[in-house]
Amino acid sequence: MTPLELTGRARTHIVEISEPPCALHAAAVAPFLNLRRAARSEGFDLVPVSSFRDFARQLAIWNAKFSGEKPLYDADGRTLEAVRLAPEERVAAILRWSALPGASRHHWGTDLDLIDREAMASGYRVQLTAAEYAAEGPFGRLAHWLEDHAPRFGFFRPFRGVLSAVQSEPWHFSFAPLAESARRALTCETLREALQDAPLLGKECVLARLDDLHSRYVARIDWP
Ligand SMILES: [Zn+2]
Repeated sequence: MTPLELTGRARTHIVEISEPPCALHAAAVAPFLNLRRAARSEGFDLVPVSSFRDFARQLAIWNAKFSGEKPLYDADGRTLEAVRLAPEERVAAILRWSALPGASRHHWGTDLDLIDREAMASGYRVQLTAAEYAAEGPFGRLAHWLEDHAPRFGFFRPFRGVLSAVQSEPWHFSFAPLAESARRALTCETLREALQDAPLLGKECVLARLDDLHSRYVARIDWP
């Protein structure tokens, strides 16, 4: 992947598929469809609620959270008021649940947020919370199956809340053969270059600590 692709500023590596509807790295499509087929034979309807996401979209998410337009949450999921927090506290609160623009693994087209459409009651609204993926939750059975079977298809969970500073995200899966080389290629300097001229709220604060943020939220991930 080129620096523009790694940071979500180009989509030359991405293809769109219609069933299930998503946008993925061209070389991640077949592995994902293989995983989906195996899940299907166990009664799951495995679909991504999020796949490729570009820089502009991640920037909009970031700025909405920084400005207080969208809610911020603490580690226990309680709402925080952005305007009451100093810029560095706001940055830390956003990064707990959302990536910096240019540093989202969703930019690579290798990462997906997965649900089981079969397990949803009609009209159910997916929230992507830990409770939904706990044993009693609607996606508990899927989470358990993925834990055992996703690795066989090359997929793993980068955010388990162990080494990565990102909160545990039981819905987020990554295609390791492509994502690992992307992770190594996305250096702090490549990220800095992507952010330098972007209309990012809190930019001064972010750029002043970028080395630390890059190592805790981008470079360091969890392995099974
Ligand atoms: Zn995700």
